[in-house]
Amino acid sequence: MIETVRYAELPWPVVAERLAAGAPVFLPVGATEQHGRHMAMNVDVVLPSAVCEIAAARLGGLVAPALPFGMRSQPKTGGGRGFPGTLDLSAATVSAVIRDVLTSLFRHGAKRIVVVNGHYENIWPIVEGIELAFDAFGRDRADGPVVIRLDHWDLVRPETIDRIFPDGYPGIELEHASVIETSMMMTLRPELVDLAAATHDGPAQFQRYERYGAPTPEVPSSGVLSLTEGSSAEKGQWLIDDTVDGLVALCAREFGLEPRK
Ligand code: ZN
Ligand code: MN
Repeated sequence: MIETVRYAELPWPVVAERLAAGAPVFLPVGATEQHGRHMAMNVDVVLPSAVCEIAAARLGGLVAPALPFGMRSQPKTGGGRGFPGTLDLSAATVSAVIRDVLTSLFRHGAKRIVVVNGHYENIWPIVEGIELAFDAFGRDRADGPVVIRLDHWDLVRPETIDRIFPDGYPGIELEHASVIETSMMMTLRPELVDLAAATHDGPAQFQRYERYGAPTPEVPSSGVLSLTEGSSAEKGQWLIDDTVDGLVALCAREFGLEPRK
């Protein structure tokens, strides 16, 4: 049998044994969404999946299959509906899927679960899904499960952001398909990035409100909300290192787990 952290690639007795031994289960949640002319549409799946797999290997953990669809893309955080290709779920669907996957994991005895999101619009639908899972399962059990939720960019250290953005950080909402995501993809899946195809029509200048029922003309036609200039595999590695270290540290703090190295 191969040595893997991928939950779905293991036979059920192995999964049962690892869950009984207290293995943390990571659940990456992504989207299939336009990420500019220069990148594949699976960025929001690749990035959380990768950091979960590296962290799980250091912790004896498991990584559940990533959710490949996300809450419908919004103009100010993902470009919105104007781009061919993006596959949207409604918020209620995302919440229901998260609820059902978590209640299954609870039923199988998973006690330590870390939901790692890669798509901005998923934040509140995931929160609701976690709440619904506890509504269904009960939340007052002394030895009940604990669920941690975060976005993969949350654990990047401020010093690293300062190093990557010496002229000022545009903020994570505008980072869609921009330096952070492009750099991490260049490290992890360089064959899915073609920087020569990137067009520079940003950064977006959005209004302070959202507009529905009419197009949002402020969305750059490239689909890149900020800029891709300055992206590099080296910066991607800094971001990945911070995030993996942060995941290992939070599992040590919250679950008392010792990293393997
Ligand atoms: Zn993204
Ligand atoms: Mn996204």
